[in-house]
Amino acid sequence: MKVMKFGGTSVGSEESILSLKRIVEAENDDVIVVVSALGGITDKLIETSKMAVNGNEGYVDEIEAMAQRHHNMIDAIIADKDKHDRLLAIIDGLLEQLRSIYYGVYLIRDLSEKTKAAIVSYGERLSSQIVATLIDGSRWYDSREFIKTTQKHGKHVLDSELTQRLVRETFAEIPKVSLVPGFISSDECSGETTNLGRGGSDYTAAIIAASLNAEVLEIWTDVDGFMTADPRVIHTAYTINELSYIEAMELCNFGAKVIYPPTIYPVCVKNIPIMVKNTFNPDAQGTVIKATVDNDKKPIKGISSINGTTLITVTGLSMVGVIGVNRRIFTALADNGISVFMVSQASSENSTSIGVRDEDADEAVNVLNREFAKEIQTGAMFPMHAESGLATIAIVGENMKHTPGIAGKLFGTLGRSGISVIACAQGASETNISFVVDSRFLRKSLNVIHDSFFLSEYNVLNLFICGIGTVGGNLIEQIRSQYEELKRTRRLKLNVVGISNSKRAMFSRDGIDLSSYREQLEKAEPSNVDHLRNGIIGMNIFNSVFVDCTASGEVAGLYQALLEHNVSVVAANKVAASSDYDSYLKLKETALRRGVKFLFETNVGAGLPIIGTINDLRSSGDKILKIEAVLSGTLNFIFNEISADVPFSETVRRAKEQGYSEPDPRIDLSGKDVVRKLVILAREAGYKVEQEDVEKHLFVPDEFFKGSIDDFWRNLPSLDAGFESRRKAIEADNKRWRFVAKMDRGRTSVSLEAVGSDHPFYNLEGSNNIIMLTTERYREYPMLIQGYGAGAGVTAAGVFANIMSIANI
Ligand code: ADP
Ligand code: ASP
Ligand code: MG
Repeated sequence: MKVMKFGGTSVGSEESILSLKRIVEAENDDVIVVVSALGGITDKLIETSKMAVNGNEGYVDEIEAMAQRHHNMIDAIIADKDKHDRLLAIIDGLLEQLRSIYYGVYLIRDLSEKTKAAIVSYGERLSSQIVATLIDGSRWYDSREFIKTTQKHGKHVLDSELTQRLVRETFAEIPKVSLVPGFISSDECSGETTNLGRGGSDYTAAIIAASLNAEVLEIWTDVDGFMTADPRVIHTAYTINELSYIEAMELCNFGAKVIYPPTIYPVCVKNIPIMVKNTFNPDAQGTVIKATVDNDKKPIKGISSINGTTLITVTGLSMVGVIGVNRRIFTALADNGISVFMVSQASSENSTSIGVRDEDADEAVNVLNREFAKEIQTGAMFPMHAESGLATIAIVGENMKHTPGIAGKLFGTLGRSGISVIACAQGASETNISFVVDSRFLRKSLNVIHDSFFLSEYNVLNLFICGIGTVGGNLIEQIRSQYEELKRTRRLKLNVVGISNSKRAMFSRDGIDLSSYREQLEKAEPSNVDHLRNGIIGMNIFNSVFVDCTASGEVAGLYQALLEHNVSVVAANKVAASSDYDSYLKLKETALRRGVKFLFETNVGAGLPIIGTINDLRSSGDKILKIEAVLSGTLNFIFNEISADVPFSETVRRAKEQGYSEPDPRIDLSGKDVVRKLVILAREAGYKVEQEDVEKHLFVPDEFFKGSIDDFWRNLPSLDAGFESRRKAIEADNKRWRFVAKMDRGRTSVSLEAVGSDHPFYNLEGSNNIIMLTTERYREYPMLIQGYGAGAGVTAAGVFANIMSIANI
């Protein structure tokens, strides 16, 4: 014999209720079917009673809407005229009683607990009659005759012994299909209608299964089984095939709504397995809950949470070492029917924090203040302190016992995501770690923990790429071609979860298909920087990196907010690192404080490892004394190209045509780009430098930068003759021009210099860069870094390297 319980959604629609019929009728065994009210009806019954007691006449329409919903259901599923009419008579009889009760409430403006219990009972009484008629040959039972409650601390609790006996008597002989309304019960003394609490139909089914030693208890609901987390919050949650009773109990106690918590105990004691199945997808495997399960080696099985938590702290100096304080706390609370779901006590023993539901908080504070009134009066203890607006989260799994480092991983994940833990507790059984956070962080906490524990066969790095020009485009291609390799060799998944350009942005938690991102972006929603910031922060995604491949000041303006929200930043964009010193410092400090990264290696020398090297030298105790460098690929190209046959203006034109210069070459020729790079290097070397501090010795007079770009091109050849005569002079000396940036113990300058063949910069070819670092350790023979200093491919590779260094945290 099995007991099958169908929840509200399983009887909520024509489609689901017909599926229920098929599932039940396919059974060969005897079955006892327990049903909930039609989905949403219990809530409606409660809301309507509130309207009636408040004198709101709208309650009448609400009753009629409920009546109509039941009528429609019957019309749709019961074809046989006789059965239809007989059922309708029963249903209308019940609805008539319900109308009278509501009318009474409306007239007297009184809604006692007893009346409330009477009202909500109609949900199951109606639904169970409908299902009993739908399933041929089934017999309807009134659960109030055998599910009996008694009063304890003003609450109705099950009288297990009496109930067991009555259930056995009632079902001594059973038909093939028995039909029982869930949730409702009656008081063992007065016989008044009571219930087992919201969600209590699961419990009804478990009590019957346990009393009759059923083979299995099946819970039919609207999801494929017990899942790793609440699927309404975590959309990557997936079904767990097997759970132990202990794991299921821990998860349900902490809010996994799929099974009402008291349900598990009675069947666990009898070793009856529970199957959780989906009425809408009966072929899915579902979840089995039983005593021992195969070890799937996963450290945790699931995550659950309770919002609306209050933490009450009992503290005082007299508590230290005093035996019996805890006993008094828990006895006082238990005597008043207040349940505590989490306790945390520091080993110093001078404070104990207990987690209770918000609705119990005032009462709990009063009870404890009364209990410790004497101690509080003498000053030995402080009055109770309650903190509300919190949420409790639990991670659960029996494998935690055998796996060190779970708590470390949990709290590390939360810390990196900027979530602070207010209290935590782990029992010695090591099957549950629970902790309390501010309610505002509940969703984010669940997301980051789920990502970290369940998607972490691989490390995942989530990237938002802003700018899909040459660098961004190259980067995306490089990520696409390296994706599988990184997954295989580094167990790393580089998930691009957002892509934007100046007009549009798209986001996808599951990762964007990089083979067609341009087409997808064209169809994406219009965006601006505010939208982008809100989208990224709103996604609340774990291990995320914002990659800025633009040159935009507005985009750089987002870094501070993103770092504050624990999003790392990798910038090819030079604006932020070269802006005013205080903003630069604030960004770096924020990254440090939030445990994330702000990296911008490609700001200088494209893919060359310059900033990283400077940082490494400094971290290992070296001091950067001097930097001399050729930092502009464009200018180096120009001064390598210039010759008797190729005048200055022509070299500038070639630099532009061959893609070495900025689209507007004045940015290169004005030295602005080199100044920004030098400022960044000097700062990273440990000196406080602003762009205005750099001494500039330029080679194109200021007035060339004032007019339009056309004026610029027109006027440029007028410089050719002057350049040619100077060129001849340095050629005679066997020297070459280099535009050199210098930093000497914090003093900075840029200038066009003629270097001789003995100088390390003399042979610098094409658009290459070179950086010479004189440090305390590299003093006599400075360190040289040299290579391609420009180009989308190498820059993208440098950005990629920065991203990888974050993945390796
Ligand atoms: P029923 O009406 O069938 O009793 P409930 O609404 O009480 O259904 O419970 C099923 C719902 O529980 C699911 O639709 C899901 O949204 C929610 N839920 C919360 N946590 C979990 C979890 N860990 N696994 C599965 N479902 C969960
Ligand atoms: N109908 C009741 C409720 O909504 C009981 C149940 O569905 O289990 O709480
Ligand atoms: Mg339920």
